[in-house]
Amino acid sequence: MRDFAYLRPFGIDEAVQLMSKHQPGARYIAGGTTLFDLMKLGVEAPSTVIDITRIEGLRDIDASARGELRIGALALMSDVAEDPVVLREFPALSESLWKAASQQLRNMATVGGNLLQRTRCAYFRGSPEFACNKRVPGSGCAALGGQNRGHAVLGGSDACVAVYPGDMAVALAAFDAMVDTVSPRGARSLPVRELHRAPGATPHLETVLASDELIVRIRVPRSGVGRASSYHKVRDRESYAFALTSAAVAVHLQGQGHRVTDARIALGGVATRPWRALQAERSLLGKPLTRAAARQAAELAFEGAVPLEHNGFKVALGIETVTDALMLAKERS
Ligand SMILES: Cc1cc2nc3c(=O)[nH]c(=O)nc-3n(C[C@H](O)[C@H](O)[C@H](O)COP(=O)(O)OP(=O)(O)OC[C@H]3O[C@@H](n4cnc5c(N)ncnc54)[C@H](O)[C@@H]3O)c2cc1C
Repeated sequence: MRDFAYLRPFGIDEAVQLMSKHQPGARYIAGGTTLFDLMKLGVEAPSTVIDITRIEGLRDIDASARGELRIGALALMSDVAEDPVVLREFPALSESLWKAASQQLRNMATVGGNLLQRTRCAYFRGSPEFACNKRVPGSGCAALGGQNRGHAVLGGSDACVAVYPGDMAVALAAFDAMVDTVSPRGARSLPVRELHRAPGATPHLETVLASDELIVRIRVPRSGVGRASSYHKVRDRESYAFALTSAAVAVHLQGQGHRVTDARIALGGVATRPWRALQAERSLLGKPLTRAAARQAAELAFEGAVPLEHNGFKVALGIETVTDALMLAKERS
């Protein structure tokens, strides 16, 4: 691992100023469970690491604000997963965290860092002799003609088919959550759905954030639709594994006929970014939520999927995942 300078600010302004001063080549570090991994692998080699874990006030989970739940960027995955408001009002968010990583990692890792975790594509994380446009822009994509069982069927390009691996962002996308950031240019808010970029011709640009932008909190609207929600994750083994397919869904049903008045469907494990299936959601509106209707919506969610040589199974598996998630959410309504 390359030598690096280590700085530890105690306030947001100080952190942002330090980041500005040490550009390019500086990185924020929170739990370190992604960044140190990538430094050890040689994928990332920051000259300066700015430890943000001592900044006051960014660990809170605050339900006192009107109409929204505020989650500080330094809140731990395990704390958010077991927060009583999250459990009651956003079960899919809690499940997306419980089903991620391991208890040890969840006790260390923060939600801000979780949003910005990088792909698990073996060519990205592997030896530099493999072509990877994300790691070395312009070098090519070894996954396109190589081992691509875990790769994306939605949102890929000729330059990259790496999956966005996180679980929580998928649930947050379904709930229309927002991210608040601070940089030397001031504060701004953006929807989680717009945080991650599709790879296009520039896969090394993974989010719309500037390199000196600090995530300070996540805000989740308390619209009520989250109560009947579920996060269904299918993986090679039942714990400590990334998703092959996953779905965060939420429904609001009305009357004896269980007609759908609101539906949210977001996909994980199958796309280059957290993937909202808006057409599939619309197809459910006004209908009773039967298994047949759920399956039809699930099929729509995968319309336009482009399977690679080894990952065609993700389309069929993804359709089952969405269907089951919708039926589970219905049981909770
Ligand atoms: C073995 C293993 C299994 C895992 N399994 C899963 C899984 O199944 N599902 C899943 O979702 N995740 C999984 N993860 C990923 C894990 O959840 C992330 O590593 C973790 O959430 C990252 O949080 P952190 O605080 O450690 O981030 P760090 O490693 O500290 O930071 C990650 C990135 O975010 C940046 N960053 C951190 N905080 C901020 C901030 N506030 N503002 C701006 N930039 C910031 C850093 O500069 C860095 O680039 C797994 C990880 C491991 C090692």
